[in-house]
Amino acid sequence: AAKQNGRARVQLFDDTMREATQQRVAAERALRAALDGDRVDSLPVWFQPIVSLQTRQVIGAEALVRLRADGELVSPGVFVPLAEETGLVVPLGEHVLRTALAQLTSWDDETMPYVSVNVSPRQLAEAGFVPMLTAELARCGLSDPSRLVLEITETSMLGRGIDLSERLDAIKALGVRLALDDFGTGYSSLTWLQSVPADIVKLDRSFVVGLAQDQDKAAIITAVLWLARAMNMTVIAEGVEEAADAQALEAAGCPAAQGWYFGRPLEAPALDALISRPRQAPAVS
Ligand code: C2E
Ligand code: MG
Ligand code: MG
Ligand code: MG
Repeated sequence: AAKQNGRARVQLFDDTMREATQQRVAAERALRAALDGDRVDSLPVWFQPIVSLQTRQVIGAEALVRLRADGELVSPGVFVPLAEETGLVVPLGEHVLRTALAQLTSWDDETMPYVSVNVSPRQLAEAGFVPMLTAELARCGLSDPSRLVLEITETSMLGRGIDLSERLDAIKALGVRLALDDFGTGYSSLTWLQSVPADIVKLDRSFVVGLAQDQDKAAIITAVLWLARAMNMTVIAEGVEEAADAQALEAAGCPAAQGWYFGRPLEAPALDALISRPRQAPAVS
């Protein structure tokens, strides 16, 4: 019976593997079709609000790409790693940057002070990255380049045979700001913190979820806030889902946060509606 059971389990495992492979193959096909055929409406860019914990006002937004395949939305958790492996992340990243910049330029800086865009390690390693960024900034006509933030992760640092610090300096020279994404989850976060001319530290969700009931997480947050301040960086806490965690972050002195509690990623018009709602005066007759 045990043998039978084992076989059944192997069968189940095979099925799961096959399904995952099929999903990847379908996602890659959809991604290629979207990028090759210029059907970029299949790659909508959504925006998640970033808020000040003190005022609860929107201070920025993170651009997050989606893939529309066979009428369904595929998560970037599935297709971004795949795009990274195949090199499709280069044209994908260009599309996201261009779309995000067009949207940012259409927002005045009071409505939306900044937009942050994720940059994958492979994209950053491309020799053409800085020229592409320069061209896109010129094309969109954004007058203040510091309204663009690029989010990078620690894996950018690992074995790519490029001088990363030179590349990051070139980005900073354009006036664009840098954020360290998913901070605290890598192997050498402190080296990363020290070696990158970053303006923003995005504290990973894993330190935020359940913060209100966890002394250790509170201690880590306090330490990161202290470090960041000493190094002239500001902190955004990621993944705030609960009012209690938002409160604990505010009490710890964290300036800003992002998460479902404040708002999910939305299409730009929906985010506009969210921003203007609290300021709308009641109709007077
Ligand atoms: P990330 O850059 O760390 O983005 C934050 C992710 O957390 C987003 O997932 C967002 O929807 C999700 N999130 C936000 N608030 C909450 C919350 O309160 N709870 C939970 N559980 N999740 C929350 P998303 O949009 O699925 O993106 C996943 C990852 O895919 C991103 O992680 C980023 O690494 C990558 N990604 C997304 N868009 C792009 C892109 O345009 N280019 C590149 N290179 N990567 C992208
Ligand atoms: Mg990010
Ligand atoms: Mg993040
Ligand atoms: Mg994260």
